Amino acid sequence: MTVREKAYRFRLCPNKEQRILINKSVGCARYVYNHFLGKAKENEYLTYTKYSKQLTQLKKELEWLKESDKFALQNALKDLDRGFKNFFKGKYGFPKFKSKRNRKNSYRTNKFTRKSGTTNIEVKDNKIKLPKLGWIKFRKPKKVKGKILNVTVTKSNTDKYFISIAVKEEVEELPKVDKQIGIDLGLKEFAIMSDGEKIANPRVLKKYEKKIARLNRSLARKEKGSNNWCKAKKKLGKVYEKVANIRLDFLHKVSTKLIEENQFIAVETLKVKNMLKNSKLAKSISDVSWSKFIELLTYKAKWYGRNLVKIDTFFASSQLCNNCGYKNEKVKDLSVRKWECPKCKEVHGRDINASLNILNEGLKIKASTT
Ligand SMILES: [Zn+2]
Repeated sequence: MTVREKAYRFRLCPNKEQRILINKSVGCARYVYNHFLGKAKENEYLTYTKYSKQLTQLKKELEWLKESDKFALQNALKDLDRGFKNFFKGKYGFPKFKSKRNRKNSYRTNKFTRKSGTTNIEVKDNKIKLPKLGWIKFRKPKKVKGKILNVTVTKSNTDKYFISIAVKEEVEELPKVDKQIGIDLGLKEFAIMSDGEKIANPRVLKKYEKKIARLNRSLARKEKGSNNWCKAKKKLGKVYEKVANIRLDFLHKVSTKLIEENQFIAVETLKVKNMLKNSKLAKSISDVSWSKFIELLTYKAKWYGRNLVKIDTFFASSQLCNNCGYKNEKVKDLSVRKWECPKCKEVHGRDINASLNILNEGLKIKASTT
């Protein structure tokens, strides 16, 4: 049994009054974040505890801050604190001011249990009870399992509202299976497996990608900041949102299937990086997908007791003969789809050979580490 943290994401359907209240909390959280970031910039960054005390004072001075969910303000400080910690560690750049015009604006609220045993956050069927807001409906409900930790309320610049409910839940590992697999990620096909299965890129994305290119061109022709520009930008944002959702859904389906069917999975990560360097097109289309896919595989493998090996050393997966190990430089040429190994005379299809090599390399790495 492992404990996992997971988030359920739903589209909220707030009424007019609730929308106003959400906007207030979002705005107040942003204000607090920016206010203390400004202070840190003027002098130096203090600590969460010190700013937290100053926040209490600030709330006395600025009455309207009290209209916000109080956790939203504390969490804004916590986010700022994490931002600075990451900056000091050299992980990220200096924290930036948040703008109303960001694609998304959000606030986070925490769950707590009162002495009476009641809680400030509750989920029932397709409704959630949130501090300051009361009960709000959300769309396409799924059963929320596990212990609720916190809830993030997000407003997109397309005026949609979402919640992400973070929970902690216990998961049972899946029953063990025998199958093992190597995955070759690609541009033409999303993935080619060592068992011969190919997973195509979802066609629907192609359609939207063309649309995005068209909307981008139209945006570029408009005067920056003008009404038409804002409209075009919003339209573009909606399409991006749609593509992101379809893509994530696809990645979840593929990764879940792979985890269910295989005990051992090997995937090459270095090639992903190289391809990104080589092709601008690849960057626009697939970068998010590949790294997200590997991220999903990684945590699902951990949850369900599967073995995942990520091959991140340089490894000529396409050029090696999976039978005898001979390296055929001629295969570097991408147009070579089929080749005969000069040494052992085995005939290889380019893609399956690569995924078989990835599987073999993965097994080698596993053997050397266990
Ligand atoms: Zn060979």
